[in-house]
Amino acid sequence: MTQTAEPRMPKEPPRYAAERRAAAPVVCYPPESLPAPPMPLYDRLRAGMTGVAQLEIPARDARAFRVPAGHVLRISCIEGPQVGDLNLWNAHDLSERFYSGKTRALHGTHVGTGDRLWSSFPHLRPMATVIADSLGWYGFDADGAGVHDVIGTRCDPYTNGRLGGAPFHRCCHSNLIRALAAETGLSPAAAEPHIHDVLNVFMCTGFTRDTHRYFTKASPVRPGDHLDLFAEIDLLCALSACPWGDCSGNSTDQARCHPLGVEIFAPAPGALDGWTPPTPAPYDRSHGL
Ligand SMILES: [Zn+2]
Repeated sequence: MTQTAEPRMPKEPPRYAAERRAAAPVVCYPPESLPAPPMPLYDRLRAGMTGVAQLEIPARDARAFRVPAGHVLRISCIEGPQVGDLNLWNAHDLSERFYSGKTRALHGTHVGTGDRLWSSFPHLRPMATVIADSLGWYGFDADGAGVHDVIGTRCDPYTNGRLGGAPFHRCCHSNLIRALAAETGLSPAAAEPHIHDVLNVFMCTGFTRDTHRYFTKASPVRPGDHLDLFAEIDLLCALSACPWGDCSGNSTDQARCHPLGVEIFAPAPGALDGWTPPTPAPYDRSHGL
């Protein structure tokens, strides 16, 4: 017996379609409803900060590293166009981790200067704030694409297997597992549940106009470009230099891949006067019981 799939849309929309579609969109979290980040303080901090550590993320691999609260993490393009998949955890509690879905709801599909990277429930606090972005000029292009998205997930061996691909060990998901395991001493199996949806650093993405499918295009990033994140709490970070390189094509075999640069900067004495680390969201967790 042959089954025919239900058409997604009936041929003739109902007579009330236009009226119902005309309902006004309501922005769920207007920017003015969020606590304003102290940008003048961050600007002063950037002007006087000192580099204290640096490392290189090898192409098609990942590394984990720690960034103390009040320090700045700079992720740089150093040799050629390359995107990075970033995971963040509270350095003292892996259960508090970056929450890309809520960050997307609060700030939009892509983040830029002044946007926060929020942590998971029940904490829901800024883990980091974007304080500088050399690709801030990109905005949204004619395809609706922007840079630094919180709409993708990370490349992984499970989806690849579902789609009929060969075993895929050098994907961002597995790269992040190996990096987290090496940094914490966890086994790869114990580390895997801590890997989460990423901030896609330097990645240029959007949804197609007609079907709203996720797409990528060549990243505009070039050597010298960087994204600066202010660590609002002590952070454990893992960053993967994606095997898709600049994400301009659909093949990892043909992708030209490059390392990424990581630098950590310490604040000058007094630069953080007036700043206090964010506290967890105010809720007693009684949930109506
Ligand atoms: Zn990837």
